Amino acid sequence: MSISQTLLLLFFFTFLSLSQPQPQSPSDVPSTTVCIIGAGIGGSSVSHFLRKYSPDSTPFTKILIFERNPVVGGRMATVTIAGDTFEAGASILHPKNLHAVNYTKLLNLKVKPPSLESNSLGIWNGKKFVFKTVKISSYDIALIDRFLKLPFIEYLVSYIVSLYNSVLLLVRYGFSLLKMQNFVESAVDKFSKYYEGDESRPIFESVDEMLKWSGLYNLTTRSLKDELVDAGLSPLLINELITVITRINYGQSVHMSGLAGAVSLAGSGGGLWSIEGGNWQMAAGLINQSDVVLHLNEEIKSVAHVGDYYELNSTKGNSYTCDVAVVATPLDELNIQFNPPISIPERKLQHTYTTFVRGLLDPVYFGLKAESKIPELVGTIEDPDLPFSSISVLKKHNEKESTYKIFSRQPMADTLLDSIFSARKETIRINWAAYPHYHAPEIFAPFILDGRHLYYVNAFENAASTMETSCVAAENIARLMLSRYFGQVILPSSLTPSSQGEGEHSDL
Ligand SMILES: Cc1cc2nc3c(=O)[nH]c(=O)nc-3n(C[C@H](O)[C@H](O)[C@H](O)COP(=O)(O)OP(=O)(O)OC[C@H]3O[C@@H](n4cnc5c(N)ncnc54)[C@H](O)[C@@H]3O)c2cc1C
Repeated sequence: MSISQTLLLLFFFTFLSLSQPQPQSPSDVPSTTVCIIGAGIGGSSVSHFLRKYSPDSTPFTKILIFERNPVVGGRMATVTIAGDTFEAGASILHPKNLHAVNYTKLLNLKVKPPSLESNSLGIWNGKKFVFKTVKISSYDIALIDRFLKLPFIEYLVSYIVSLYNSVLLLVRYGFSLLKMQNFVESAVDKFSKYYEGDESRPIFESVDEMLKWSGLYNLTTRSLKDELVDAGLSPLLINELITVITRINYGQSVHMSGLAGAVSLAGSGGGLWSIEGGNWQMAAGLINQSDVVLHLNEEIKSVAHVGDYYELNSTKGNSYTCDVAVVATPLDELNIQFNPPISIPERKLQHTYTTFVRGLLDPVYFGLKAESKIPELVGTIEDPDLPFSSISVLKKHNEKESTYKIFSRQPMADTLLDSIFSARKETIRINWAAYPHYHAPEIFAPFILDGRHLYYVNAFENAASTMETSCVAAENIARLMLSRYFGQVILPSSLTPSSQGEGEHSDL
């Protein structure tokens, strides 16, 4: 081989090696910063799924979460009254809420199973209970246990009582109950499609597209009442039991949109559970595991697109530069300034007033002779004169004292509470901007707010507002962001608990 041929070959190989993709050392990989506004289950889930789905070539993505409150969890929060702690916001999870089930395992959280004691239900119309199930307390069970020394007597009594109550329900509402169950099961089955593997589940650019794919979209175009009438449910069931459920779970009537209605009915079935010590621990655990820089007590007041990045400014006077920004909170009652401005459909939030009382209900208010005759869950029908949606016993301390939770659409004034309770030791009131006020047809805000890299998790809340729907929306946002920003097919990388954040990680 001549010298010129050798040089030519050398040049050729040099050229080849230069044109081949070079394995990048970690320091070569440009760092990408994702900023998330809100540390509820939505924001924390975005961080979790970003880490889960991030391709190995982008391990240096920085995730910043901003939370205006001193704690994480958002609408998953607890309240402590007279030394006992209870869920103040989102309290129950459905057995088929698979993301929550997975988080519980991943984060080693303890599941609080549904109580054995079946709560008695009474439907109150302002004058009388139009329907009541029978009540059996732990005191009654202990009494039976004393006389009949049988193994598993507690289970047996609870089983017989719940069977008897099912018969009572069947006598009043007939086979409409089965039709209701079918309606709920069909919606739950369709929702389960969101757990299908990534190979068969597309990445959705809009809420409409996401709901159409699972077959749930049509339920958002009609009211729950219209859906139930078409499904053959009786007016009695719709106006009583179903109204009670929608008032408890969403503070709204059966005129709410069908999908949110179906979700609320699913939240009244069996097997409901929660996290021992508080559901907020899901958000805390996900943030801890996702190598996030968490900024507590830092409210974002503006988001500006400058050049090819976003600038977030906080009320503390700090400014942050991010490649991608995610809004993980409902924007409806916030005053975040967007530049350029964004446009989302107007949406009203339903305010739910949650009042916790440690004391004793007054039987006189309910026209009864003894407090023990008041059902543990008092639900109400739709009547503007009724001052509350529901009253439920959270814990019976003794014969003279229980802790109650009241849901109402208006604040519960002291004079009103004094007429309902014979004794009140402590009262705590929370005004929640709780969830969207649902009305069909629902109009959805975009997932992508500006056509670039500004995302909105809570656009999905018009479908239904639950911890699990936030997780499902967050997963889609994480996949959408990764596919649009890095332009590649996302393969789940094995999820390894990553190290703690960068000094700023607050103690949760
Ligand atoms: C009373 C009540 C009962 C409920 N019951 C249930 C139930 O039993 N089961 C169920 O599944 N769901 C229930 N829900 C609904 C559930 O709580 C919500 O759907 C879910 O928690 C929403 O989570 P998120 O992360 O999307 O929003 P959020 O939890 O609202 O989180 C948003 C976070 O963003 C923060 N934030 C807002 N603006 C800014 C800003 N500018 N800068 C920084 N941070 C900001 C907020 O402080 C908040 O922490 C209930 C809700 C309420 C209110």
